[in-house]
Amino acid sequence: RAAIIEELLRAGQIERSKGKIRSTELGRTVAASVSPQLASPELTGEWEARLADMRALGDEDAFVVDAAGYASSLVSDAFGRESELRARFGAAGRHVVCKCPRCGREVVRTGADGKGAVVRCSSVTTRRNESGAWEDAGGCGLKVWAKVAGVTLTDEQIAAAIAGERVKVDGIKPKDPSKKSYSRFMTLDASAEDGSGCCKWVYGEFANAPAKPGTGERGGKPFGGRAWAK
Ligand SMILES: [Zn+2]
Repeated sequence: RAAIIEELLRAGQIERSKGKIRSTELGRTVAASVSPQLASPELTGEWEARLADMRALGDEDAFVVDAAGYASSLVSDAFGRESELRARFGAAGRHVVCKCPRCGREVVRTGADGKGAVVRCSSVTTRRNESGAWEDAGGCGLKVWAKVAGVTLTDEQIAAAIAGERVKVDGIKPKDPSKKSYSRFMTLDASAEDGSGCCKWVYGEFANAPAKPGTGERGGKPFGGRAWAK
């Protein structure tokens, strides 16, 4: 939250006055230009409920970053100054990963460290349904878990997977902690859904499994191999 306040201060949308924070002319102009969407009672209620959830989970910062990201996308729509706003809010970790193959808009990653759990198309908006769960309210629906098999993926890996490429994921830890971590190839099935609303990660072959049965390493020396291959 401190980072957001610093950003707004730096952007000149708020100022410190006699120990209090108040909006500036610029800030009020920006707020007024997006107020129909941002200041709607539904949205305020939605965010309050969400904040309460995240507070319970001890993840209040994630909410603020989320809200700031959403606000910045509305503001950028209103002003048509996406790059400038992106630069301003970039410090909060929100950044573009790639273009969305479904709708052509930007696929963004948020979170205080820029490594948020879900990477989503900026067209996706959410709302709370009657049972209190979050659901998509609009947009193309492209959402991707940024963590697969316990490994947080890089932007490059996510972008490649969204583009339909096979991605090698290193450092997967086996259940048995005494065993070595391993690598595995993963692909993203953008047409399938994994039950959480995200695209389905498909686990492919192991990248560093022995090539053939009966080959491997013993005491640092290879065995099997060519003799067996003949
Ligand atoms: Zn999209």
